[in-house]
Amino acid sequence: MSRIAHEGAAFSEQPAASAGGSVAALHSFTPWLQETDAHAAYHLGLIAQVDERLANSAALDDKSCELADKLERWRYQHLEEGGFPPSPQQQALADALQATAAQLAGRNPVAPRRTFSAVHDQSLDFQRFPAAIAALDPAYPLDELIELARQLTTAHFSDPATDSRQSSPLPRMLLYAPLYVSSHCVNFCTYCGFRYPLDIERKQLTLEEVEQQIAVLKERGFRQLLIVGGDFPQLTTIDYMCDVVRLMVRAGIVPSIEIASQPLSGYQKLAAAGVHGLTLYQETYDRALYAQYHLRGPKRLYNYRLESHDRAAEAGVQRLGLGVLLGLCDARQDLRAMMRHALYLQDRFPACTLALSLPRIHEAPEGFAISSPVTDDDLIRFYCVLRLAFPAAHLVLSTRESVALRNRLAKICITQMSAGSSTAPGGYSESGTTAGEQFPVTDHRSPAEMTQWLQQAGFHVV
Ligand code: SF4
Repeated sequence: MSRIAHEGAAFSEQPAASAGGSVAALHSFTPWLQETDAHAAYHLGLIAQVDERLANSAALDDKSCELADKLERWRYQHLEEGGFPPSPQQQALADALQATAAQLAGRNPVAPRRTFSAVHDQSLDFQRFPAAIAALDPAYPLDELIELARQLTTAHFSDPATDSRQSSPLPRMLLYAPLYVSSHCVNFCTYCGFRYPLDIERKQLTLEEVEQQIAVLKERGFRQLLIVGGDFPQLTTIDYMCDVVRLMVRAGIVPSIEIASQPLSGYQKLAAAGVHGLTLYQETYDRALYAQYHLRGPKRLYNYRLESHDRAAEAGVQRLGLGVLLGLCDARQDLRAMMRHALYLQDRFPACTLALSLPRIHEAPEGFAISSPVTDDDLIRFYCVLRLAFPAAHLVLSTRESVALRNRLAKICITQMSAGSSTAPGGYSESGTTAGEQFPVTDHRSPAEMTQWLQQAGFHVV
């Protein structure tokens, strides 16, 4: 059994810069910026504004937060334009910008983010996940791996039996539904049915329509909903998303979000409105392939997306959902990077819950070819490997997969499943919707049918 023990020790952290230290650090870059930065005048102007606002702490208001957002944008532009990994000097400027932005927004300083280096440090695999890495090898017997994953899942996700005739604990399964609120999107992700400028009927729900969809889903028994929306800055605004979140909270729903990556200030507003969880997939951790699949739009910024979970957790979001889109890259390579990412987040935010998902592309818009197909057996293996590496993390499975495969995986290691899903805005209305779907659903069982199957299979359904 030693092989199934949780592996690893804490990821080392650098201390946070002191408040005064961060601004002094920022100033120390003045000569370098004057010499090397094409936008030096603008950036030095920002530093001058920082001095002005911090000179009077009573002036820490909305304008200071706007300035903090500008420093954050500068930080990500700087990281994107620099080398990978960043040079020590580039990293030092990024750290000074992070710390100064935090100070301006009145937040407690946190240790500098090191997401990129953690995700790309392959030496962590053998230090922290030797058993999981061994099990990734196709030569490792799948039956044995499935049994290990099943044991770990039972140990971490079981509830006492409610029926006195039952003596053993029941495996727990949480059902949730995605609520698509908008199919408008400015990004060009080559694999996605919502990408711009595909000619589909697009729709954004009004708040009244959102309320109706919530009522339908509540009637069907759901208490956990995932708000899903494209990235269209003029429409899917942070205020709109906060309104949707508040409607759900008022209806007694626990909301999570799967929306465009937000600045720290955006995640703070969403957390204050009641967001419990963030689901955000890096799609692929391979930076060169990431650039090939994300041709236009804000999603192109690799590091901005990669650090989304850091910003959300720093803002107070409790549940962090990660994933890769299987089919884009060598799956084993991406899975290893995702495990390093999850490890980094687990070490940095031990109070947060991790949720890991492996969506697989089955269909994509015309002209898109799946470069690295993944078989059913591979998918089962990958989920089991995640269970070995993260015994207490939720493993999430969507309705993209077939009934037979979902039933099989539920009995091994999955702890959260969507059910009765629609991937079009307004898709739960009685009258249906004419708006386009993001991807086709394969398991069409209703929530009631899904619940019935789970209960007959011995699950405690939440
Ligand atoms: S994957 Fe998301 S961001 Fe990309 S085109 Fe689709 S909806 Fe937009």
